Amino acid sequence: MTYPDYEADLDYLEQFRDDGDENVRLLEPLLAFRLSRAYRASKRLRDLLRIESAGRTRDAQQYLYDGYKEKRAGFNLAANPDRIIGTRGGKTFRGSWHMAQGDAPDGIGYVYAVDLTHHGRLDWGEVHDQLRASGLATTVPGEPWHHQATTIRGPLPGPFPDGTTEQDDEHMTPEMEERFDGLATWVFNGTTMIMKRIEELALQIEGTLPKGDD
Ligand SMILES: [Zn+2]
Repeated sequence: MTYPDYEADLDYLEQFRDDGDENVRLLEPLLAFRLSRAYRASKRLRDLLRIESAGRTRDAQQYLYDGYKEKRAGFNLAANPDRIIGTRGGKTFRGSWHMAQGDAPDGIGYVYAVDLTHHGRLDWGEVHDQLRASGLATTVPGEPWHHQATTIRGPLPGPFPDGTTEQDDEHMTPEMEERFDGLATWVFNGTTMIMKRIEELALQIEGTLPKGDD
C-alpha cells in the first residue's frame, strides 16, 4: 500500500543511485519509506552509501535467467522468474525479491529488495546499525548489501508511514528465515528445508566416517 509521500521519497532516493541507471522507482512503498528515512537520518549514509541495484522488471529477470540457462557469456546465476518464493495473504511472490511482482497499478509492480554499496568507504557494521534503526535488514546470509523491509512473513519490525512501529511478536530474525541453498534470493518459509539440509549434512558426515572394521 502506498502513502502520500511515496513519489517524493522515490524522487529523493534517485540522487543516491550508484551509476544512475538503477530503477529506484520500482521500490515497494515500505522499502522506499524506510530507505529514505535512513538517508535523511544520517549524513554518513548520504555521503557514502549508494544504491547499486534497485530492481528489475519480470522481462529483465527472464532475460537474465535465459542467459544463465543457456550459459551465455557474462551471465551469472539468476532465479527463474516463475519460481515461487512464497505466499502471504493470498499474494504469491515469484522469481526474485529484486523482480517486480506485478502488484502495482502500472502492471509492472514492486520490488522488495535493494542492494547497497559503500565502495569500501564505510563498514557494513555501521551501515547495518543505521539501516536497522529504520527497519531495514539483511535477509540473505553472505550478502551484507542486500536489504529488505518485508519478507514472506510480512513487514520487518520498524517504522511505518502512518507513524506506527510494529512489534516483532514472533522474535523471528531475518537470518532465521533465510535460505540455505545457493540462490541469492531464495527465502525460507518453513522449517522443512532446514531439516532436510541438516539431514543431508548428517549423511555427508556419515559418508566420510570410517565404517567399523571392514
Ligand atoms: Zn540483493
